[in-house]
Amino acid sequence: MIKTLREYIKEAEEKGVAMGHFNISNIEALHGIYDAAKKLNVPIIIGVSEGEEEFIGRDEVSTLVKMIRERDNYPIFLNADHHYTFESVKSALDAGYDAAIIDAVKLPFDENIILTKKCADYAKELRTKTGRDVLIEAELGFIDQSSKLLDTIPEGISEKTMTKPEDAKAFVEATGIDLLAPSVGNIHGMVKGGNPKLDIERIKEIRKACGVPLVLHGGSGISDEDFTNAIKAGISTVHINTEIRVAYKEAVEKYIKENPKDIAPYKILKPAVLAIEKVVEQRLKLFNNM
Ligand SMILES: [Zn+2]
Repeated sequence: MIKTLREYIKEAEEKGVAMGHFNISNIEALHGIYDAAKKLNVPIIIGVSEGEEEFIGRDEVSTLVKMIRERDNYPIFLNADHHYTFESVKSALDAGYDAAIIDAVKLPFDENIILTKKCADYAKELRTKTGRDVLIEAELGFIDQSSKLLDTIPEGISEKTMTKPEDAKAFVEATGIDLLAPSVGNIHGMVKGGNPKLDIERIKEIRKACGVPLVLHGGSGISDEDFTNAIKAGISTVHINTEIRVAYKEAVEKYIKENPKDIAPYKILKPAVLAIEKVVEQRLKLFNNM
């Protein structure tokens, strides 16, 4: 019998490992990610941002993930990654998603609390009404925005923009969220010369202060050592997106260049599925201490 996402996250934390969260915008990526997870037999989370969700289809992705979970009796879950409004969070949860991230980090602290609480209250209502254990995650502190390749570390990332443990505590208490994504030196995207180092002590303090499991965003480009230490310090879910996008694009480019006459999508895109599988397998091994 499959447990709930909340239970898998709790279990990961107890084991000192982390669940992998991987973004998709098409079914090829879903295949690559799922193949890797199945090979290692570890639970996983599929994520779609608002843009990714619009491309693949909200109901389509929900149906696909749920179908795999039920058909194979496999712990695969779906998260609405970085949704910016109450309406988009509500629509995702109503469509059957297991979790949603309300990203109100650009709003002033007070307004962030109001919007985040509204989402957490809705999730609570849904849990009571339907018995589905849906989760709400929110972000606190600055980790920049999109999953892309960067020449340098973005401006505005500094100790000042990292999450303070006392703010994390106040934020979780005021909103009732289930998971927190802190800023601990992580950024979205991959920096050419290497991503900044994580503040491991800060992770420990935030986890202790806030009382809910922590999610590390912007996992692409972080060193293996930093990952291992961050997971030990209290990270129980890690987000990877940019690395998957790079693997996909490079594999498609290479195939088209080498086989300019092929037009069958299932041939052109197969190497992309395999390239994604390889990236995800390596990441899952690291996160699950295998
Ligand atoms: Zn993120």
